[in-house]
Amino acid sequence: MTDELNNPDIPIPDELKGQVTVTTLDKIYNWGRRSSIWPMMFGLACCAIEMIATAASRYDFSRFGMEIMRPSPRQSDVMIVSGTVTKKMVPQIVRLYNQMPEPKYVLAMGACASGGGPFKEGYSVVSGIDKFLPVDVYVPGCPPTPQALLHGLIKLQEKIDQQSIKSVDWYDKKAIEEIPIPVLGPDLIDPRDFMRIKGSSKATLKTDNEKSSEN
Ligand code: SF4
Repeated sequence: MTDELNNPDIPIPDELKGQVTVTTLDKIYNWGRRSSIWPMMFGLACCAIEMIATAASRYDFSRFGMEIMRPSPRQSDVMIVSGTVTKKMVPQIVRLYNQMPEPKYVLAMGACASGGGPFKEGYSVVSGIDKFLPVDVYVPGCPPTPQALLHGLIKLQEKIDQQSIKSVDWYDKKAIEEIPIPVLGPDLIDPRDFMRIKGSSKATLKTDNEKSSEN
């Protein structure tokens, strides 16, 4: 057992040190989860090359329990959104996120995934994946270095350390709702915005009708 699991409030006699650990349920539960976060294997643009370098032998994020990347959302714990998020890709990204089992996390890697990057306001690009998914950690840079990505993953581990089995969403009796998959037509529409769009188009129609009756 590792020393980081020890509860400092409960002293262990010297002769038992290294053989006995007194810990809390939260600590051991989070230690297990934070030490086996498997990333989903997918990349979107240039940032993905840095992500691949982070997984390779020089930086090797297996040292942090990330192990191998999983090619299936059903075996993945963290989605690293590495690259430019185009409107065409958003429905697929959200669908994959919905297919990941809880607990799941999202890391926005680089300027594009965090806020649109150099393509912000471009006709084909969204201004950050956080418009659609709940992002846990942002890693700045264009592209971020492998060290920066490792730092982001360590921050994610620290976030997991703060969670408690008593309050996490996925043990709540209420089912966690899926994120509605955006619809790509002439532009990308988030189904959660339908009512707002409907309301504003009705208001525009009303004003147009009023103008034409005045004429
Ligand atoms: S942040 Fe920079 S390096 Fe990363 S995908 Fe965007 S343009 Fe490429």
